[in-house]
Amino acid sequence: MNGRRTATPNRILNYHKVDTKKELGITVVHPKAFRKQVEFLVRKGYRLVTLSELFFSQDEKTIAICFDDGYQNVHRYAYPVLKQFNIPATVFIITSAIGKSNDWDANLLGIKFMHLDESEIAELIGAGWEIGSHGIGHRCLLNAPVQELEHDIGQSKEFLENKFQSQINFYSAPFGKINNRILQICQNSGYLGCCGFYPIKLLHRPCEENYVPRLGVYMGDTPQSVEKKLALDVQTLKWPVMKQNFINFCNNGTIIVKGIKEKLAL
Ligand SMILES: [Zn+2]
Repeated sequence: MNGRRTATPNRILNYHKVDTKKELGITVVHPKAFRKQVEFLVRKGYRLVTLSELFFSQDEKTIAICFDDGYQNVHRYAYPVLKQFNIPATVFIITSAIGKSNDWDANLLGIKFMHLDESEIAELIGAGWEIGSHGIGHRCLLNAPVQELEHDIGQSKEFLENKFQSQINFYSAPFGKINNRILQICQNSGYLGCCGFYPIKLLHRPCEENYVPRLGVYMGDTPQSVEKKLALDVQTLKWPVMKQNFINFCNNGTIIVKGIKEKLAL
């Protein structure tokens, strides 16, 4: 590959939903597209591991697949594909949503998606998958008071560790919204890292120690566009990073709608 190396490479592909069902938005990847992407990465010699294994790996071809929100469709559609290649992934669970539908989401058209239930989560762990915390109620915590941060970040870890007897090493910040306070509380709570989306500034400098950058995979991504998200040179990585930051910006609308819905429900 030509060009300058990135200061911080992206080694993580983050999905949300893998489903045949459509919704308003871009977070659903069709199972056939998911299969093509995984087959392509395997053919290209990437080694796909859990986030904890990746965290301690220096190998450039070692990457991880994550799923935010812990949807049931991950078990139904993504798990069988990954199982075929013996690939473990990491799934981030919203503790209050286990076995329930996604009522926490802004959900403009009212299309519901179910979350993984306890037995499905246990099955994934049994198959070598890692689980992480995506907080208690998927709230944007940027302006939350310290007690709420400690509760969401610390309690969700404890809850998942007790329920599934599995070490919780990573927190995925809801909406990928991270600041220094969130990073600090993740560290104090015993997480190895806090996952967010790759900010533009990381194209030119190294990452904070426990900040784990990722790039999302969305509807319309091809195997080739997915591989570009793993590029080691700044020029190739720049476009997927810009696109990610535009998507993050649009997500602010979801946060506002969710806030209004919560206020109206009070
Ligand atoms: Zn999420």
